[in-house]
Parts: sequence; C-alpha cells; structure tokens
Amino acid sequence: MKKRSWAEPFKIKMVELLTMTTREERKRAIAEAGYNTFLLRSADVYIDLLTDSGTSAMSDYQWSGIMLGDEAYAGSKNFYHLEEAVQQYYGYRQLVPTHQGRGAEHILSQIMIKNGDYIPGNMYFTTTRYHQERAGGTFVDVIIDEAHESQSSHPFKGNIDLTKLRDLINRVGAEKIPYISVQVTVNMAGGQPVSLANLREVYALCSRHGIKVILDATRAIENAYFIQQREAGYSTKTIAAILREMCSYSDGATMSGKKDSLVNIGGWLALNDEDKASEARSLLVAFEGLQTYGGMAGRDMEAMARGIAESVQDDHIRARIGQVQYLGNLLLEAGIPVVTPIGGHGVFLDARVILPHLEQEQLPAQALASALYIESGVRGMERGTVSAGRDPAGNNRHPKLELVRLTIPRRVYTQAHMDVTAEGVSEVVQNADKIRGLKFIFEPEALRFFQARFAPITADQVYEVP
Ligand SMILES: *Cc1c(COP(=O)(O)O)cnc(C)c1O
Repeated sequence: MKKRSWAEPFKIKMVELLTMTTREERKRAIAEAGYNTFLLRSADVYIDLLTDSGTSAMSDYQWSGIMLGDEAYAGSKNFYHLEEAVQQYYGYRQLVPTHQGRGAEHILSQIMIKNGDYIPGNMYFTTTRYHQERAGGTFVDVIIDEAHESQSSHPFKGNIDLTKLRDLINRVGAEKIPYISVQVTVNMAGGQPVSLANLREVYALCSRHGIKVILDATRAIENAYFIQQREAGYSTKTIAAILREMCSYSDGATMSGKKDSLVNIGGWLALNDEDKASEARSLLVAFEGLQTYGGMAGRDMEAMARGIAESVQDDHIRARIGQVQYLGNLLLEAGIPVVTPIGGHGVFLDARVILPHLEQEQLPAQALASALYIESGVRGMERGTVSAGRDPAGNNRHPKLELVRLTIPRRVYTQAHMDVTAEGVSEVVQNADKIRGLKFIFEPEALRFFQARFAPITADQVYEVP
C-alpha cells in the first residue's frame, strides 16, 4: 500500500498578515536588539520560530469558550471544567492552577525542596532548575549519555539513566532527594521522548526509596506520540490511553498549558497527595491567585480545558509532529547538521558543527540565530552556552549541545513556510564562514538568555555577505 501523507486536520477561518523586511532593516533591527532574538520586535519578524510557547492558534471551539468565561473571583465554572479535563486526560486527583508553567515550578519547589536537597532530572530546563536552586536544591542531570550527542539514532534520548539515578541515591541518600523531575519530552535535548518502559522503571525505583516522581508534562502529548510510533506494543493504543499510562507512573506534574494545550497562557500543578496539594494552595494564594483561578482569567481556563481535549486527538498530534519532521527532513536532505532523531516541537541546528571556526565562548549558537534572522527574517532561539548560564560558583557552564532551536507553533504556519525556512537555513549555512562570534555587553543575573545583549567580537556586523 502506498503511504499516505499527514495533512492538517483543520481548515483556516481567519488569517494574520505577515510583513517582510529588507536585509538592511533586519541588520539594523538585530543590532538594536543586541543580537538577542528575544529582544527583537515581533513586527520585524517574518516567520517566528522563537518558541512554541503560547504561540499556538486556538480553534473556533476554544474561541467560543472565551465568550463563556465565568469571571467570578471564586469557584468559576471554568475552573471545574479545567479540573475535569486534567483528571480525565492526565489522571491526577488534585489540580492547582497557575498563570503558566514556571508558576507551578515555583510553588512545587517551595513546598518540596529543603536547603541542601538534590533534585535529579533528565537534562535541565531553564526555569525549572532556577526555581530548584532558588529553593536551596542542587540539580543533578541523570539523563542517558546519548542525549548529549547531537547525532544519535537512539529512539528515546530523553530516558533516565537508572545507574546515574542509583549512584546519586547511594551518594547523597534518598532522604536528600524529595523528588525527581522527569521531562517528557526533553526540551533542551531537542524535544526527545522518554519511553514508557523507562518511566515504569524510574517510578518503581523511586517508590522503593520514598522519592516522588513529578513529570514536567509540558509536552507529554508529544511524548505519547513517539511512544505510539516507536515503543513495542503501543502502535494500536490511542494517544489518550498512552498519556494516562505515562502519568500513572508519577505522583504529580507541572504543566505549561502554553505548549501541548493549545492556549496562549495558563498552566497548572497537579498532585495526587491531598496534604501536599493543600500546602501548594496556601502558597498559591500569595504568589499566583486564589485556588480556583491561580493567575488565569475564567476564559483562559475554559480555553485550556477545551484545548486539552483537542490536544489528545491522534490526528492533531500526528499533523503537529508531522510538520516538525517535514522541516527536519528538508534540512537533513540539504545536509544541514541537526539534532537527530527530529524531536517533537522543533528542529535544532548544531552550531558547533556549522561554525567550527568559533570557540564556545564566542557564543556560536547566539551568532547563528542572529545570522539566520538577517538572512531570512526567520527568528530562532539560542539553546547553548548563553541559555546554560553560570553554575552556583559563578562559572560559565559549557553544555555539549550548542544549538539554535527552530520551534514550530501549533496550527500556525503552512508547509510553504517550512520550505522558505529551510531555504533560509541552507543559505546561511553555505555562508557560515562569514559569521563572527559574539561577546556579552550586558548579562543579567538570572535566566540571562532572555535579556542579555551582545556585540560582535571582531567586525562591525555578526554576518556580512558581500
Ligand atoms: C516552557 C517550559 C516550561 C515553563 O513553562 P512556562 O509556561 O514558559 O512558564 C517548563 N518546562 C518545559 C519543558 C518547558 O518547555
């Protein structure tokens, strides 16, 4: 039988016009933005692949839910709809709504971590680690080694290395490890999934030692799709069934609704333990909002409840990841070094291989993201030395992965936009020797990648093609 292509399981009802800038305008814009794509104005961007966070297109059903917002301060109908959706699709008992994912990470870290604790995780995530360290914890990476190799064909590069986890337990003692944070999928590794077999083993090991398992469920549905495609015994299971099984091997989760759940804002913390949930709600009312809105408007909770139901549809996730893989395969065919296998939410360019003439302290991924913008108007994001930040002793971290992330918003761009993006990347890679390194001229203390400013080290411009 001939293979059938995926196609979007929706049609377009409303469009947002794009503007194209000239090369001279883009050179000016990126210089004014201090060579940080986070500081560009979106009006100066043609195809915006900065992030898939809060950038998805909502459906007409979600938009109609916006009109049904119950903006009562307490006990909004929409909260109960959201609670039902989380209980039904994720299976957790207690829901604590937050304004977005980092709100949940903050509350969780504060109620779980004591000074001197260790929090293992499968590769760090920026805001997650920040809140763990702020609460007095030390993050320990226990992901398998393959995750740090950009070229690997491992189907579950997000897996936890059980030997590394056991070693940590032996070294510091289980009583110093309140929980493990398991990201599904692993953002910084390139959107790489964790297998159900691995989740099951991690949960068994941790339960034996009294260590809680908390999922970072931000992209759990994308993870479920990879399990369906790659793990033996799951090809005929629905995404919804796989998601429930994934969550059953955990005690709770933090969630950024801005990713999987197809909304522009929102998040939650979910826990099965009632006492811990009660502790979380005590902090919630001080930092986020009352326990039945947690920083969201009623309408936002309604849009998320509806978005969750749409996000677990097999057709939806197949097309979502199909589009990411379409871009990834175009780049692979063009010989561009990207993280393999292609992940769930974006394609990650390997800046170390593309720019062999730049040392890591010359911030190659930051420079490549700037050059790509100048070349094509496509906005990506650095995920390398700048994002990794400094360790608690104040030294720059040098991650093995020095990447530019091209993140695909859900239900927003077309296949032709992916073609244009791939052409822009090919052009800039062909001229890679024209890309200069960058240095910091402003470095904020926390989560520096958001606000830092840079300048070219040697020439006036980061990227000048004659
Ligand atoms: C985006 C993200 C977060 C943080 O969520 P926000 O809604 O941006 O605060 C946490 N973990 C992962 C894996 C993410 O991708």
